[in-house]
Order: sequence, then C-alpha cells, then structure tokens
Amino acid sequence: MRTLVIDHPLVTHKLTALRDASTETATFRRLTDELVTLLAYEATREVRVQPVAVRTPVGEANGVKLARPVPLIVPVLRAGIGMLDGMTRLLPMADVGFVGLVRDERSLVASTYADRLPADLTGREAFVLDPMLATGGTLQTVVAMLADRGVTSVTAICLLAAPEGLDRLARAFGDGGPAGVRVVTAAVDERLNERGYIVPGLGDAGDRLFGQI
Ligand code: URA
Repeated sequence: MRTLVIDHPLVTHKLTALRDASTETATFRRLTDELVTLLAYEATREVRVQPVAVRTPVGEANGVKLARPVPLIVPVLRAGIGMLDGMTRLLPMADVGFVGLVRDERSLVASTYADRLPADLTGREAFVLDPMLATGGTLQTVVAMLADRGVTSVTAICLLAAPEGLDRLARAFGDGGPAGVRVVTAAVDERLNERGYIVPGLGDAGDRLFGQI
C-alpha cells in the first residue's frame, strides 16, 4: 500500500479552514469540494490512458484519452457524497457506484448497509471517496469488496488520515494486496481518541457537511 500526502500550500490552506470549528456548513461544503479537486489531480496521476491522434486546425497531434473501461468512483455514504462533485469535476466520464457503511459508536466496527456496485468490476480502476481515514475499518471493507469483484487498483481519497488507519490498511493489503492500494490525503494527523475521532482532525465530517441529523 502506498500513501501520498499532498504537500501543497493551497491544500493546507483549505484543510486549515476545514479544521476550524467556527467554519459553517456552507463554507465547509465548498472547501471540501475544492480540496477534493486538488487531491483528485494528484490521485489520478496514474490513471490509465490510451494513445489517440487528433487533427488540429493546422495539423495532426498525438495525445491520449482515458482508457476503457472508464474509472469507477465510489463515494462512501454518507460523508463521501460531499466529495463527489469535486471528483467528477476532473473525471466527468467516470461511472459512480455507492456503498454505505456505518460504524458502531461503541465498538467502532463498520457494517455495510448499502451496496450499489456492479457485481463484475474486472479491470476497473476505482477511486474511493471517504473524508476521514480513522480506524481504517471502513476502507478495509470497501477495498476488499472491490477487490473481490475484480478491480485492478484502488485509490482512496481522504481529507485526513490517522496513523492507526494507515497501519491497518498496510497490514491488510501489504505491498499491493489484492488490488494495488493507494491512499491520497491532505495530512496524516497525530492519533485517534477513545471515541475513534482523529486528533486534532476536524470533527465529524458528515455532520459538518450535512448538519447533525
Ligand atoms: N469520522 C469522522 O467524521 N471524523 C473522525 O474524526 C473520524 C471518523
């Protein structure tokens, strides 16, 4: 498993505003959207392309287009929905599949309540959207689901990651694992607290994106 921490002043600037407890929901949503687009730019660096020739107004040029099958974007409900527009801005032609996982607040164990992914994902590249990589339980489950259906690579895009979650994914998927696994994040924070929140983190990403419902 590879971890890529995007060290860029604009990324850190937006993340700092997201961390700020006084940032209101509307601003939090907009900043998340912008930050995901910046992370997505790096996360798609290895996206598969195929050569293509085009006729320009004055000649011929060799370029590339996205290879088929097109990538699959997988937002993890509910907070991953807040990252979808920022991602599809860069990959408008991608397919989108949904998974829903909820973690038990006491045991911190994640269970699946929605699975809207195709049964056969042979040869697909997947981009999983989950803002907070905390214990790693959710992402471990989602990566395993995708690998079971035949994806060739999984890139998880997370606003923030905890060392505990990264360690867990590294143990589960090692050097490559069932699918080539990468995590792209804006920062790796100190630790998890006793309630499984990332410290210093930004709080509950779902609540901050959508309100406490
Ligand atoms: N999920 C969140 O929304 N925030 C955390 O800090 C950890 C998990």
